[in-house]
Amino acid sequence: MLSDKKIFTHQDTLRGSITPERAWWDLTYYHLNIEVKPENKYISGKNTIQYTVLEPKNVLQIDLQDSLKITKVTQDGKILQVIDDGNAHFITLTKTQRKGAVNAIDVYYEGNPKVAIKAPWDGGFSWKKDDKGNDFIATSCQGLGASVWWPCKDHMYDEVDSMDISVTTPKNLMDVSNGRLTDTKTLSDGRKTYTWSVKNPINNYGVNVNIGDYVHFSEVYPGEKGPLDMNYYVLRDNLKKAKKQFKDAPKMMKAFEHWFGPYPFYEDGYKLVEVPYLGMEHQSSVTYGNKFENGYLGRDLSGTGWGLKFDFIIVHESGHEWFANNITDIDIADMWIHESFTAYSENLFLDYYYGKEAAAEYVIGTRKSILNNKPIIGVYGVNSEGSGDMYYKGANMLHTLRQLIQDDEKWRQILRGMNKTFYHQTVNTKQIEDYLSESTGIDLTAFFNQYLRDIRVPTLEYKFEKDKFKYHWTNIVSGFEMPIQITLDGKEQWIHPTTAWKTQTVASKALEIDPDFYVEYKKL
Ligand SMILES: [Zn+2]
Repeated sequence: MLSDKKIFTHQDTLRGSITPERAWWDLTYYHLNIEVKPENKYISGKNTIQYTVLEPKNVLQIDLQDSLKITKVTQDGKILQVIDDGNAHFITLTKTQRKGAVNAIDVYYEGNPKVAIKAPWDGGFSWKKDDKGNDFIATSCQGLGASVWWPCKDHMYDEVDSMDISVTTPKNLMDVSNGRLTDTKTLSDGRKTYTWSVKNPINNYGVNVNIGDYVHFSEVYPGEKGPLDMNYYVLRDNLKKAKKQFKDAPKMMKAFEHWFGPYPFYEDGYKLVEVPYLGMEHQSSVTYGNKFENGYLGRDLSGTGWGLKFDFIIVHESGHEWFANNITDIDIADMWIHESFTAYSENLFLDYYYGKEAAAEYVIGTRKSILNNKPIIGVYGVNSEGSGDMYYKGANMLHTLRQLIQDDEKWRQILRGMNKTFYHQTVNTKQIEDYLSESTGIDLTAFFNQYLRDIRVPTLEYKFEKDKFKYHWTNIVSGFEMPIQITLDGKEQWIHPTTAWKTQTVASKALEIDPDFYVEYKKL
């Protein structure tokens, strides 16, 4: 089912598909080296793009969006021809590209990058000031793509293996990017160049630049893989508030290592970085703008009170380290792999600290935001996300799946196994579906077709006729035969509805359907 009637363009295909000019080379390393000039909202610099030749071809596609301009591309010092097609740039290499060889190009660029309109959803560069008038700058580019601010192979399928990010800032300000700070140079006029090194594969939208009058504090967390350094960067005036609020960060780490396995980026450390927008799952550099308050900007998305027990941004955005940064979708049509599991992680955080009932209340409470107007999976090959239902409908789908497994320890091992099986990989929905069917021992084909590809909520139609209870499923896809738990005659029991009516003899008409299942019911 198509999610909407949007007409996709040639540019969408260039951006969203694995074009022939992308397919023949595999990214190995980036060195993004830029200067940021807030006085005229200008950036300039270059990206060194290193790759392995998979097939010996000689035209490659690099993406960089409108307002920025590629000024020069070189390979081994030779200037190369660039043919522009909107945001895609086709570069003709003159050097022989031997299969298996590791080559690099330098892409020089500059300009005024798109200004974020409503970061992080409509992102770009946020050029803000702190209360003292210092520049406070941050990038965000999920969906829109990293090519809104730097030249890259802007598709989810190919993650670079490692990356360095060098950022030159105005004097007295600091840049915080991904990974570890490996070098700081002060130029003669006081400007500073900060170099950050990422040792793990990273998706493009996870890369970020944050510049401000930062102060730093840190702690060492005794994690599953050993000591993990957790570093915090906040504006100078917010240090006291942050030291209190960021206690949720080690709490998060403890709960999520329990449920999902070791933090996936020990080599790069974990950071929480204050930014002038709400937040984003930037890898090993989670950005934070939740005002040092619990909830989502002080609100509880579930309406149950449980959402005020934790800082939503610390928990949700860090949950993405496992689902988005460790396990990454190969096409953003499959973005539910990021958001469903991460929205679900919010209730597992509560489960860890407040128990199973609190967790269930929270995730069930979030159902009020489900729209069921578009399928969760988007359109493939054109950089198109599915419905926002990928958050809380997805979370409730996973909560329903937990009920079907009937074994919480097994469910935990399945989630941990998933992070091990797909460690540092880009995956599609089919791989996740197959993994879950196999590891649960339940054929989940129809289950996922129902919740990911259809907008209808399975509805149990039932009626009482004399001493008979009759029930069946409606609003379902073909093959959907999910069992559910009910209480009938004071007895908890499983029933196995199908499209055909089933009948059982009862003494009373007192029926309760377990609210943990995301289904509807209708008495006839
Ligand atoms: Zn998210």
